[in-house]
Amino acid sequence: MKGLLWTIALLLALGQSLACMPALPPEGPNPPTSQKKGVIVVFHPAYLRVYSEDPAADPGRIEAILKELQGVPDFIFTEPLPATEEDLRRVHTQRQIESVESRGSELYETALLSAGGAVLASEMAMAGEVSMAINRPPGHHASPDYSGGHCYFNNIAVAVRKLLDENKIQRALIVDFDLHFGDGTANIFAYDPRVTYFHLEDGDRIQQLQKLEAFLSQTEGYDILAVSAGFDAGKEDWGRIFEIQDYTTIGTLLKKAAERNCRGKRFAVLEGGYNQNVLGKNVKAFLDGFE
Ligand SMILES: [Zn+2]
Repeated sequence: MKGLLWTIALLLALGQSLACMPALPPEGPNPPTSQKKGVIVVFHPAYLRVYSEDPAADPGRIEAILKELQGVPDFIFTEPLPATEEDLRRVHTQRQIESVESRGSELYETALLSAGGAVLASEMAMAGEVSMAINRPPGHHASPDYSGGHCYFNNIAVAVRKLLDENKIQRALIVDFDLHFGDGTANIFAYDPRVTYFHLEDGDRIQQLQKLEAFLSQTEGYDILAVSAGFDAGKEDWGRIFEIQDYTTIGTLLKKAAERNCRGKRFAVLEGGYNQNVLGKNVKAFLDGFE
């Protein structure tokens, strides 16, 4: 009889561990600052502009995301101010700032507002709100002195460096799940031990989710989690990797890591993602896990 009970207990334990693959990291000692659901969506009408001829600036791309988020009570929209030149100079050279400016006022102003969107999202996170900027141009390919890959200013780097400079945080964790490596972000923080940059890459969807979970489970001591949220690794996007529900899993893993590290302080900014038929659904799926 005792042997039978043990067998049943073992089977139940096995069933549980199999049922929750990929398992979520355990809850840490830090409770989230707030139990309420909801995401502050940082958005400016200038993000709708078609400021250049690249896929990130495609007409309808941001509208495709808004269609999924607008009118949902969980999402509260707020408008950012442009980033100041002082904020840009925390990350970029004067030459780089002037080179973007020389490409015309429409692009320059939109790029300033995009960086400003990341700054506002980070400030919302510090105030205990979960936040995401639905902004463009994207930023993670922008280095201190040059940019490429449809990026001009490194939005997430400007936001994180500003928090560091203002002594609001001591350490930051940046997680990037765009299809492409954020060379700009990696370059900017290459010699800054206060910031860890982690990019998800290589492997099929299950391998990538497991890698993310394994990485996040050993993180500790960060004061904020900043997420470069690119959706071009989607099954129906360029990378053909992640199913829609995988983005909810990614969002949930990131949320748990933020709760464990930094009382839930987290924000995301938009990077890539180009198939307008699925982009909005992927963003919504991510936020369902992240909020
Ligand atoms: Zn990309």
